[in-house]
Amino acid sequence: MLGGTFDPVHLGHLRSAVELREVLGLDRVHMIPAHVPPHRAAPGVSSAERLAMLRLGIGETPGLVADDRELRRQGPSYSVDTLASLRAELGTRARLIMAVGHDAFLRLAEWRDPEGLFTQAHVVVIERPDHQAPLPATLRPLLAGREVTSVAALMAAPRGGLLRLALPTRLAISATGIRRRLAEGRSVHYLLPEAVRRHIESRDLYRGDGAAPGGETR
Ligand code: ATP
Repeated sequence: MLGGTFDPVHLGHLRSAVELREVLGLDRVHMIPAHVPPHRAAPGVSSAERLAMLRLGIGETPGLVADDRELRRQGPSYSVDTLASLRAELGTRARLIMAVGHDAFLRLAEWRDPEGLFTQAHVVVIERPDHQAPLPATLRPLLAGREVTSVAALMAAPRGGLLRLALPTRLAISATGIRRRLAEGRSVHYLLPEAVRRHIESRDLYRGDGAAPGGETR
């Protein structure tokens, strides 16, 4: 599972998903847009729009799945609930992994039921060149005894481990940077898939005039 706001999806997400699948030998990477992200401001565009862009971005990429399960739930999109629903589908013995970027990982202790995340899945932290803050002390108790240093050690069990991973390609691309560029009328070519860029252009998304077509109403 690679969750996120995907506001909008970009090549940092997609390349990371492809490399996660390769490096960890995964069957699938479910990319799951948060319907109502609990830990941040409402996204600039609706979840349906973010899902549509994710589908366009993934296209036919083998092993990547645009998974809409959080859009089908009401209330805040807690990852622990999403993992429980994946676990229910896959069974107790499947290896289930929640991948998060380093920036998201720094706030893991604030998530709903952080211990429960490890009951359902492994956590893999993707290093990001644009986010390198040190780990806060609040995370230490959560990580104690869980960290492993190799893919083999992680994959020896179905859940409960933590691995920090430097993927081969690290892209300093963020959705914030893309939204800012769009608001300023600057180019976003080659930061996201061309199909997504065209969709944004044709729907006039993320313009700088404060308009948020299809915006959330939280
Ligand atoms: P924003 O700038 O709006 O915060 P973002 O670019 O970080 O957005 P999210 O949708 O919040 O994108 O990210 C979803 C997940 O993907 C998070 O775990 C995040 O850390 C990770 N991620 C985002 N960008 C990258 C990147 N360039 N490389 C690796 N992981 C990334």
